Amino acid sequence: MKLFLNYLALGTLIILVGRNVVADEYLSGIEWEEPSIVTVPDPCKAPSDAVVLFDGKDLSAWDNAENWQIIDCAMVAGGGSVKSKQAFGDCQLHIEWSAPTPPTGDGQGRGNSGVYLMDTYEIQVLDSYDNPTYFDGQAGAIYKQTPPLANAMRPPGQWNVYDIVWTAPRFNDDESLASPAYMTALHNGVLILNHFELQGDTPFHRPPAYTKHADKMPIQLQDHGNPVRFRNIWVRELKPAAGTRVRDPFLRDDEGNERPFE
Ligand code: MG
Repeated sequence: MKLFLNYLALGTLIILVGRNVVADEYLSGIEWEEPSIVTVPDPCKAPSDAVVLFDGKDLSAWDNAENWQIIDCAMVAGGGSVKSKQAFGDCQLHIEWSAPTPPTGDGQGRGNSGVYLMDTYEIQVLDSYDNPTYFDGQAGAIYKQTPPLANAMRPPGQWNVYDIVWTAPRFNDDESLASPAYMTALHNGVLILNHFELQGDTPFHRPPAYTKHADKMPIQLQDHGNPVRFRNIWVRELKPAAGTRVRDPFLRDDEGNERPFE
């Protein structure tokens, strides 16, 4: 009899748990637009909706690139920094780069370049493979603001990859800062910046500061006197997912009956 009661209790429990499993569905009341379909043909190629800034063939997407050379499908720094002709705000940036080999110089003098988002905010490019320097100036640093979370550097001559997610700063009409810039970055697939909040620009000679600028600005690649190579550069402009609230959130049971969520 006791065993029977135990089975009865267990059965009741299973039924109760079972009821909880098939809970009513929560619906937000927002009609989301379908996310765009993006085809990614190959890990080394740009996604279908990307703006390609360099694919190994020509420098037509860049200003001031007359003195940069294309060698073995890579663009090589030299003769001044280059800026993309197209301007970008919030974006995803993919860029591959390789430090000169054999390496020459040391510290900040070895394989120095930089990727400037919005022509203003530098994520450092440097040969940081067995090359000590100040930590907030090594490869993957937001220059003079934070070191990277890890040193994922490949040796000189090998290709490094930055995958960067950029949130542009916003400014008020009175030129004050409305919201700061943020950067998330992976270096060779390793997270090195995790939604880092920038304190402003990234100069050598003074603390960072924000100065109001346009909503979209060029990407700059720095020429720091070292023949750093770049290839496979593409950008995806980012927009928030779009949707419209058409009703308050609600619940729907498995027979399709709806009721407000309270
Ligand atoms: Mg630099």
